[in-house]
Amino acid sequence: MVDHPDKYDYSRAQVPGPLTQEMEARKLEKKRAQKAQRKQREQQLPGAGGAEPSLCSQRALAAEQRLAVQLQDAGSTLANISRCWHCGESLLGRIPFHYLDFSFCSTACLQTHRRARAGHT
Ligand SMILES: [Zn+2]
Repeated sequence: MVDHPDKYDYSRAQVPGPLTQEMEARKLEKKRAQKAQRKQREQQLPGAGGAEPSLCSQRALAAEQRLAVQLQDAGSTLANISRCWHCGESLLGRIPFHYLDFSFCSTACLQTHRRARAGHT
C-alpha cells in the first residue's frame, strides 16, 4: 500500500478486519464505562465546568500516580543508599553494625564514631 498507493482501490476492497461479537461487546462495555466515569466526574466537580473538566481530573490523576511512583522511588532509594556513618562505605549486601540510629560497616567504624560523639558532648 505504501509502495503502490494508486495500484489498487483499497477502499473498494473493503477489508473490515476481524470484527467479532466479543470485540463488539467489549467496545460497548468500554463505552458504557466511559459514560459512567464521565458522569462520576461531573458529580465530583460541580460547577468546575471549564472547557475540559475530564482533562483536568485526568491530569490530577496522572500527577497523583507520578507522586506515588516518586514516593516509591524515594523509599527504595533510601533503602538502597544506607551507608556506614563513619567512612561512608556502602552497606549493601553487608550485615551492618548498629548503634542507636546509626549503621556502620565495621565495629572499628562504630567505635570511632561513638568515641567522636562522646568527645563532642
Ligand atoms: Zn565504615
